[in-house]
Amino acid sequence: MSLPEAFTQRLEQIVPREQLETILRTFDTPKQVTFRVNTLKSTPQELELELETAQISYERVGWKTQFMEGVYRISPEDKLRLTSSDAFYGGRLYIQNLASMIAPWILAPQPEETVLDLAAAPGGKTLMLAGMMENTGWLSAVELSRERFFRLRDNLTAQGVTNAHTYMTDGRSVGKKCPEMFDRILLDAPCSSEARFKTHDPKSMSFWTIHKVKETSKLQRRLLLSAYDALKSGGKLLYCTCSFSPEENESPIQHLLERHGDRLNTLPLTLPFDNVQKPLERWGKEVFDARIQNGVRILPTDTIDGFFLCLLEKN
Ligand code: SAM
Repeated sequence: MSLPEAFTQRLEQIVPREQLETILRTFDTPKQVTFRVNTLKSTPQELELELETAQISYERVGWKTQFMEGVYRISPEDKLRLTSSDAFYGGRLYIQNLASMIAPWILAPQPEETVLDLAAAPGGKTLMLAGMMENTGWLSAVELSRERFFRLRDNLTAQGVTNAHTYMTDGRSVGKKCPEMFDRILLDAPCSSEARFKTHDPKSMSFWTIHKVKETSKLQRRLLLSAYDALKSGGKLLYCTCSFSPEENESPIQHLLERHGDRLNTLPLTLPFDNVQKPLERWGKEVFDARIQNGVRILPTDTIDGFFLCLLEKN
């Protein structure tokens, strides 16, 4: 099945023209499988030994930055061997796209802090936040969908997380219930998941319409306002999505800055690879606040999914 035509036309206007063909090809190709050590249960050295004993050949992901220690890649054909391993069943490794690992790394929670994950299931980023917090402090994980909420809880238990408190509730209500409570907040917003489209999996894109993108944008705006209310002065808020659409990325941040821009800065993001693009300066009739330029749009490759990230600080 081919990509929705309206999606491709919009993508042409979003990503750099000279990279469009390469980016479009990534939707056809199976991605390499990446995973990381769960530092609550193992260490990179121990996991590597386990993988070698199980005869799983891996490659370390090396961008010469500290955060990539304990991150590995294998080819898609070896995935079954990995998911049948003791390390996988024992929760000592977690399969996750590199783009998803980058969000907790940027938010950089510290031990003993209060941290909120406002749209948490199935919990891949919550697990990494807990690992970075060394299972200390207070980690609230919020999820609205009942089915996904129980998956989140099971995941946290299986991976040895003990500092998380889970809430099956609407993230839009959290700001008013918990004003100025958190040092750091991750809003990995529900989105149209455009970066997860796969041409060999029609279901991955069957629900996509421009109308859906615009509806999702409204939800994202309200979640962002809630996250802002829940953030302490001096706290950091990371907004991210796996969508390319400016309605779901630049626009919700613009909306937040229009309401609370006097108390918010954005912080520049430097990522350890080149397949990135600055946020758009305008989209249609909308001209975006220059502060949004500090965000980043990750362009997809055969290893990393597309992603948008913007880090804000409340002053
Ligand atoms: N952070 C997750 C991870 O890394 O595993 C992925 C989160 S996914 C992009 C967004 C999640 O938000 C979905 O699980 C969805 O059910 C949930 N969601 C949708 N609307 C919500 C709302 N109003 N409040 C809280 N969660 C919501």
